[in-house]
Amino acid sequence: MRRLFYAGALAEEITITGGDAHHLAHVMRVQIGDEITVVDAAGRVARMTVSAVVPDAVRLSLAEYLEQEEDNSHEVILVQALLKGEKMDFVVQKAVELGAAAFYPVMTEHVVVRYDAKKAAAKAARWQKIADEAAKQCGRRALMPVAEVAPLSSLLQNGELFGAPDTAVIFCYEGEEEQPMRTALRACTARRIVLIVGPEGGFSLGEAAAVCAAGAEPVSLGRLILRAETAALVALAVTQYELGNFDI
Ligand code: SAM
Repeated sequence: MRRLFYAGALAEEITITGGDAHHLAHVMRVQIGDEITVVDAAGRVARMTVSAVVPDAVRLSLAEYLEQEEDNSHEVILVQALLKGEKMDFVVQKAVELGAAAFYPVMTEHVVVRYDAKKAAAKAARWQKIADEAAKQCGRRALMPVAEVAPLSSLLQNGELFGAPDTAVIFCYEGEEEQPMRTALRACTARRIVLIVGPEGGFSLGEAAAVCAAGAEPVSLGRLILRAETAALVALAVTQYELGNFDI
């Protein structure tokens, strides 16, 4: 069934407008009586029926509320250093498909692209749009929020990521030679896992020391140096696999 994320609260009747209405009416070509799964801003899910298609709006009537299920038993969050060109778009889209609960774009010393505040805000908005589209496409029950671009130094002080209860931070570090990611994941009992992946140029020694001092555990993804976008996808996939989130 088609899935729609609705920014308001579910009710007996809701009206969809803007880009979503256009998509429903002109791309999906919904007809009166068609059913759609709607997820609201609070994560409530309902089966709804198209009751009217009028210019610039689609009206939906409640058929039934559906039981909410968590997408995954664990929460996996990706902190990704900025990447060149369209690679960041790619990682955002794939992070959604691989079940990341949230995405934090981060500036590090060796990041090649530099954005002023205006460009950084525009980029974050673009990535949120890509994430929302990907969530609709893959049938996720929740959207993946994309945070504002932040420097690594301020992220290390973000109490929701570092030092948060029931949270482990796993640092994918190309300089780590001892601990494979699998060992860290198998020893991990936290419900939330934050993964950190660097830019094309990797992390400086100072950054690596600061990330570890903030409580992250450095891990290796193997003997080979992966491209940053490959590393992000591998880290997410391996983590979800080890957590049992690919069970069907
Ligand atoms: N320029 C760096 C170098 O030559 O050592 C490589 C950086 S790599 C292209 C980009 C990011 O992917 C790294 O900062 C790290 O987060 C992750 N990464 C790539 N290969 C990895 C590996 N074998 N183990 C852990 N992390 C890896």
